[in-house]
Amino acid sequence: MVNKSIFSKIIDREIPAQIVYETDQVIVIKDIKPIAPIHYLIIPKIAVLDMTDVRLDGALSAHMVAAVQHLAAQLSGDQSFNILVNNGQSAGQVVMHLHWHFISGKNLYQNGFGL
Ligand code: AMP
Repeated sequence: MVNKSIFSKIIDREIPAQIVYETDQVIVIKDIKPIAPIHYLIIPKIAVLDMTDVRLDGALSAHMVAAVQHLAAQLSGDQSFNILVNNGQSAGQVVMHLHWHFISGKNLYQNGFGL
């Protein structure tokens, strides 16, 4: 594929990453620049661009949510977490391959959205 995203390269084992969970549909890696004690990226294996690119007649959303639930069940102590999606370049999306940030161990909303 031309213009393969960095996440597709990780999925295809062309570049390394710290993989914390994987199914046939989804991979979860540790973010290379974590902003909290736990900062994972939930990534669909199919190269979906962003949230507006997800086909609602498929099961991808369910697989993404299942990954969230799996990660939540692994949390020790406080089970709180944030799911964050930067959708589109102006909203901060840098990697043009859908991913949900799974963030725990830090209250991101302490000061509202003044992160
Ligand atoms: P976003 O701004 O929502 O597109 O987020 C992209 C995220 O991917 C950032 O938090 C980066 O730190 C992370 N990232 C970029 N390259 C890698 C990589 N090779 N391994 C793990 N995380 C990465």
